[in-house]
Amino acid sequence: MAEALVGRGYEVTVLNRSEQPMSTLDPDMGRLVHEAMNGMGITTVSGAEVTKILTGGDGRVRAVATDGDTYPADVVVLGLGVEPETTLARGAGLPVGAYGGLVTDLSLRVRGHDNIWAGGDCVEVLDLVSGRRRHIALGTHANKHGQVIGSNVGGDYATFPGVVGTAVSKVCDLEIARTGLREKDARAEGLQFVTATIESTSRAGYYPGASPMTVKMTAERRTGRLLGVQIVGREGRANASTSRRSRSPPA
Ligand SMILES: Cc1cc2nc3c(=O)[nH]c(=O)nc-3n(C[C@H](O)[C@H](O)[C@H](O)COP(=O)(O)OP(=O)(O)OC[C@H]3O[C@@H](n4cnc5c(N)ncnc54)[C@H](O)[C@@H]3O)c2cc1C
Repeated sequence: MAEALVGRGYEVTVLNRSEQPMSTLDPDMGRLVHEAMNGMGITTVSGAEVTKILTGGDGRVRAVATDGDTYPADVVVLGLGVEPETTLARGAGLPVGAYGGLVTDLSLRVRGHDNIWAGGDCVEVLDLVSGRRRHIALGTHANKHGQVIGSNVGGDYATFPGVVGTAVSKVCDLEIARTGLREKDARAEGLQFVTATIESTSRAGYYPGASPMTVKMTAERRTGRLLGVQIVGREGRANASTSRRSRSPPA
């Protein structure tokens, strides 16, 4: 929305309670997104929790307030995240997990209820990297859940084994991909890990149209098990043909 509104010539400020926009990335990769937004003319304010939307006598919005500041505004767009709406299910005694999503088995049958299946945004799914259940609201999962449930209800057999947290998106002129655990997720799991960040290009340097790309990989120490990958790249930008590498000290 910020990108679209700036493109239409509006002055745009993004207030964010977290330390950076796109907290699905590690802070060092998220910084690239932050910089791209600023470069496009979007003002970003981090660590700013919105406490009030101020309106005038005509009922129209005038400003947005945080604890410390007030930001004049003609239009306010809220993007506050997603939580499973399971009030009805909980009222019916169905089990929910730590994120408030319904708990199912691999066939998406609600645990303890033979004749109830659940899928989509209202369920928690197994994270195959951490082994824990998470809530990830994505249509790509909901679609597969629907197919699995349809098969099972129809007398066939299908399972939804879990997810690795893959997501691809575009912000300003950046293309962003992520999968697996962030550093803070790995730390929370008690995993010891190393990271490697590579500055490279989207194509071989001699090939026309190559553009810079930052790739960060996180792997478990000793086993080398890949825990997560994040990529921030630019299509159609200047060629940066040399590769640079940096490695973190073992965590
Ligand atoms: C702006 C936006 C962009 C998105 N972009 C992507 C994307 O690029 N890729 C991606 O994978 N996912 C994306 N998603 C997420 C994706 O849309 C959802 O994960 C997906 O639609 C979830 O499917 P669902 O069937 O679980 O729920 P929904 O699609 O929300 O369907 C639930 C339906 O149940 C109805 N309902 C609710 N309560 C009741 C009731 N009591 N009685 C009867 N009906 C009821 C609702 O009206 C609704 O029609 C996006 C979501 C949003 C909001």
